[in-house]
Amino acid sequence: MSVLQYITSQRGKKLLVYNNYIHRQDRRDENKIIWRCNGNQKCSGRVHVSENDIVLKYVDHSHLSDVAKIQAKKTVEGMKTLAKENSLTTRAILGEGSSQVIIQ
Ligand SMILES: [Zn+2]
Repeated sequence: MSVLQYITSQRGKKLLVYNNYIHRQDRRDENKIIWRCNGNQKCSGRVHVSENDIVLKYVDHSHLSDVAKIQAKKTVEGMKTLAKENSLTTRAILGEGSSQVIIQ
C-alpha cells in the first residue's frame, strides 16, 4: 500500500509523492485536493486527496515512475539534514528527512 508523502520543491512549492510518482497541485475543491503529474504534461496521472489525507481516487500514470529520482533526492537531503541537525538521533533525522525532501 502506498502512502502519501509531501515534499517541497526548490521553488518552495508543495509536491505530493504517491505510488512513486511526483505530483503537483492541480486544483482544490471544496473538500479535496487534486494533484496532477509533475513533469509530464500529457500524462493523465492524478491523485484526489481528501482533507484528512485519504486517497479518494487514483488515475494511473502512462510512464515509468520517478522512483529513482525520488530516492536520489531523499539520500542527498538526508545527508544535509544529518549535518545540520546533529543534536537529533539518527532515527529522528531519517524520519524527519522523509517528509522534508527537496526536489527539483
Ligand atoms: Zn505521470
